[in-house]
Amino acid sequence: MRIAMVSEHASPLAASSGLGGADAGGQNVAVRALALALADAGHEIVVHTRRADPAVPRRVAMAPGVTVDHVDAGPARELPKDDLVDHMDAFSADLAACWRDETPDVVHAHFWMSGLAALPAARALGVPIVQTFHALGSVKRRHQGADDTSPARRVAVESDLGASVDRVLATCHDEVDELVALGVPAERTTVVPCGVDVAHFTPGDAAFAATGRRKADGVFRIASVSRLVPRKGVDTVISALARLPGDAELVVAGGPRPEGLDDDPEVARLRALARAVGVADRVHFLGAVGHDALPALYRSADAVACVPTYEPFGLVPLEAMACGRPVVAAAVGGLADTVVDGVTGHHVPAGDPGAVAAALERLRADPRRARRFGRAGRRRAETEYGWDRVAAAHERVYGEVASAAVPALSTALTTGSPA
Ligand code: UDP
Repeated sequence: MRIAMVSEHASPLAASSGLGGADAGGQNVAVRALALALADAGHEIVVHTRRADPAVPRRVAMAPGVTVDHVDAGPARELPKDDLVDHMDAFSADLAACWRDETPDVVHAHFWMSGLAALPAARALGVPIVQTFHALGSVKRRHQGADDTSPARRVAVESDLGASVDRVLATCHDEVDELVALGVPAERTTVVPCGVDVAHFTPGDAAFAATGRRKADGVFRIASVSRLVPRKGVDTVISALARLPGDAELVVAGGPRPEGLDDDPEVARLRALARAVGVADRVHFLGAVGHDALPALYRSADAVACVPTYEPFGLVPLEAMACGRPVVAAAVGGLADTVVDGVTGHHVPAGDPGAVAAALERLRADPRRARRFGRAGRRRAETEYGWDRVAAAHERVYGEVASAAVPALSTALTTGSPA
């Protein structure tokens, strides 16, 4: 099939470098891996993403069968994700022109603004469209309240999109409930998780020299890997560390490049907390760690802590599991599906440092159990979440929508209508 993916802010080309900053994370990784796996299965993929650099060519061949198309929409420089909505009319017009010349068999939009741009362009040509939100505005608003800087119309657009596209792919079961609450008919949703590269993230030797932070003998190392934004719960892990014996340390990957750590406000906030609870000497900020070095980091850890206040899917626990490491995870969103409590790690309530500390202490006190969890995590990652398997699930949905009639475009949903 000819598959057009739209990923307006998250370029798959950024996935091998530049992750961990405020706006670059799981979507970049997931779009890249899905495109590569679909191409391996014989499909032809074009990923349309906004041009954020004047120097990159319009079209870049990423791999055999995968082209990245840089769409001119707004200034050709990095913009905050929340400012991109103003440029979705231009993005949509460009997609429409492009697809008139090269009409795809199916369109797959990633994130709400991609859907906003893609829907009118796809419908004008009668091309079926599948939507993955990756994150929902209604959930973000509930958790972040006044700190949510998303455009005001986001929730209304997501609800309209859910009612208009051919299929909504939810990345976890919890998301289906959220979609139904938004008015999306349950029969228009299919749960298809994200995956993990089980050939890259593998168990193995525990050395991690890439950043010079070798683990000392006898140390119980906890790893945290995430964009450094407050909802990721790194503060909860720091508070938990203060309740653990002095041989436990925390390494924190994510945020700016290492040379920018001292200027980062979130790092400053977390360092102040570490000082306040008396663990400043046991928390090590690494800055953004490249995807290539991450398997070694996971392997060097005795446990990986992922305790966000909410999480639409969460690639990090899967990466840790694929590396054979036990995970202490908040039982929220996708983490409730991927981490199996008492089998591949421990579930804890979100925002509860005492529960995180107790779960980590159980792993510290019983290394055999921790190793058993790690082995079970690897098995689960391989059997349930390999990208070939996840790509096959996408293929099934693409085939279903391509063979069904395409409904007419809801007139309420055009890129220009303020909601
Ligand atoms: N990541 C990385 N280096 C870092 C921090 C994060 O490569 O320093 C990657 C991480 O390995 C994962 C992605 O960024 O693949 C984060 O995805 P996740 O779904 O966990 O969270 P999101 O960023 O989408 O909220």
